[in-house]
Amino acid sequence: MEFKYIMIRYGEIGTKGKNKKNFIKCLYSNIKNALKEVHGIKVYNKYDRLYVELNGVDPTIIYHYLDMISGIASYSPVYFVESNQDSICDLVKELALNTEFNTFKVSTNRADKTFPITSMDFNRVVATVILKNKEVKVDLHNPEANFQIEIREEGTYIFLKKYKGLGGYPLGIGGKALALLSGGIDSPVACFYMMKRGVALETIHFASFPYTSKAAEEKVYDILDKLNVIQPSITLHIVPFTKLQEEIYKHVDESYAITIMRRMMVRIASAWAKKRNCLALVTGESVGQVASQTLNSMSVINEVTNTPIIRPVACFDKLEIMDVAKKIDTYEISIRPFEDCCTIFTPKNPVTKPTLEKALEYESKFDYESLIDEILENIETKNIYKDSKVNEEFL
Ligand code: ATP
Ligand code: MG
Repeated sequence: MEFKYIMIRYGEIGTKGKNKKNFIKCLYSNIKNALKEVHGIKVYNKYDRLYVELNGVDPTIIYHYLDMISGIASYSPVYFVESNQDSICDLVKELALNTEFNTFKVSTNRADKTFPITSMDFNRVVATVILKNKEVKVDLHNPEANFQIEIREEGTYIFLKKYKGLGGYPLGIGGKALALLSGGIDSPVACFYMMKRGVALETIHFASFPYTSKAAEEKVYDILDKLNVIQPSITLHIVPFTKLQEEIYKHVDESYAITIMRRMMVRIASAWAKKRNCLALVTGESVGQVASQTLNSMSVINEVTNTPIIRPVACFDKLEIMDVAKKIDTYEISIRPFEDCCTIFTPKNPVTKPTLEKALEYESKFDYESLIDEILENIETKNIYKDSKVNEEFL
């Protein structure tokens, strides 16, 4: 017995009409793209499912690709037979004999109404075949094996297992946003959630050479290499931030330095987002985590822009964020002990309740606008794509 297909189900009830068409088209092309290195298979769409035709390829090879494709609700490796009673029963019998279980149920879904037996009746027919051939019991509530049978016009799909997918929307369907990516734990997790929601990302990183090392920047490349599993090609913009930071520390009281620095980051990121046709900013901020992430701070920082700022991990605890970071494999990279631009300049007593008046007062003390203009002229852009190993060109 050999699996003939992997059946892929997409979720998000409520996606209808033209949206649904786009959803499927986008998911189809993402799956096809992800699997292009697997030879011999074919991806296609039929009714409300997508299929990977295996042509003898081991389905387990495909699973880890599918697990990282947003928009997939679940998938199953399936057997396939003609839609007639004998063929179905023969296959189920063989499958039952080759599978270890003590309790089971049969779940028929008769999408093809020309099949002469109702789902309920067919469940009984198939269960009888299994009971005749094996010493097992029916358990409708908590069975060890669930024989699932989908009867369709083109044939019947039979399977035991359903693996959960990432869920969300196909990447790219939600437009494009610009994510502020530090080397820390939170921002890669924020990126992950945004991509899972179907939004493709460009990323922006603020670097403070020579205060930060090349090794700190390397973290960003390594994180992007992990995020490439979900989005195969990600643009990275590197901002030369040092001069502006030095000016901030010259003119701004230490307690307000972080607030002003964040306001500058958001100004730069917003301007850059506009230029790159990104409709929102994404950050790894989490309410209350540090002084610059209290609601007071967020509101004073947010004041510099009209661009929506999405904070996917705003309400997560650090431990929850860390769990996801481990799942997407960025955690070990993020905890590497290199300084980033914020840790270098972190004051001892940052204000937790900054006011807009004070922020504006500090900002009036120096000509940050022309510094920002200069920075915008000097942003460096690179494309990080799947398997593009970190090499000299980047370091
Ligand atoms: P992270 O783990 O993402 O670094 P954090 O808890 O260290 O988060 P902060 O350093 O306060 O938080 O930064 C908050 C957010 O600001 C980050 O999640 C990120 O989106 C953005 N950010 C901070 N530093 C940088 C940087 N050097 N380049 C780009 N974005 C940054
Ligand atoms: Mg950080």
